[in-house]
Amino acid sequence: LIKITDIKRNFVLGNEIVYVLKGIDLEINKGEYVALMGPSGSGKSTLMNLLGCLDTPTSGHYVLNGKDVSQMKDDELAGIRNKEIGFVFQTFNLLPRTTALDNVALPMIYAGYSKSERNARATEVLKQVNLADRMDHQPNQLSGGQRQRVAIARALVNKPSIILADEPTGNLDSKTSVEIMKLFGDIHAQGNTVILVTHEEDIAAYAHRVIRLRDGLIESDTTK
Ligand code: ATP
Ligand code: MG
Repeated sequence: LIKITDIKRNFVLGNEIVYVLKGIDLEINKGEYVALMGPSGSGKSTLMNLLGCLDTPTSGHYVLNGKDVSQMKDDELAGIRNKEIGFVFQTFNLLPRTTALDNVALPMIYAGYSKSERNARATEVLKQVNLADRMDHQPNQLSGGQRQRVAIARALVNKPSIILADEPTGNLDSKTSVEIMKLFGDIHAQGNTVILVTHEEDIAAYAHRVIRLRDGLIESDTTK
């Protein structure tokens, strides 16, 4: 599913070059459940953005579903992203003053579905995340855990091949975090590939494989 070869990512800041990812090799198969860990600044979010086709590497190759996406232009990359990737963020990133249903249906607009198809599918995934009774609520009328469930429903709506989550429980209390991790467990059990970033060992313990980054390199990669 994912094959990364010698990926490097630098950023140019004024007349300085910041070397963030320094040569990452990584393969992830369909159906894996991976936790990405490592100190702050080690490059986790930078790697997730590459995996999620939100960014392209400075050098190296990223082959996703057999297609090399490493040098793709923005619009082509956006097409791949919309089809293949569901992204969940620490801060939920929902549209304010927009109902849960419309937030979830949004990625389907870009994918070209009709309104009735969008509403039917968005309703289905909102039921899957146990929010059937909150579909007409706006984000500020929902709890943090409910907001994150809306964001997870949105990530699932286009049936992506990979679910990426960057610290999905970072803004949630421990009880709500457990609920969200149970939901990721269900999503994985349904055959989805899940990759999430976390700082917490007990969150990482839900995954079957733990990859640790340090200073832009993979320090360890352990499968249970
Ligand atoms: P955290 O656990 O704090 O979220 P992280 O492992 O996700 O950390 P990244 O966000 O990937 O870390 O950042 C890694 C390094 O890359 C940091 O030193 C950061 O300052 C630098 N960096 C990230 N994005 C850019 C950018 N657009 N321009 C310059 N430097 C960047
Ligand atoms: Mg980060």
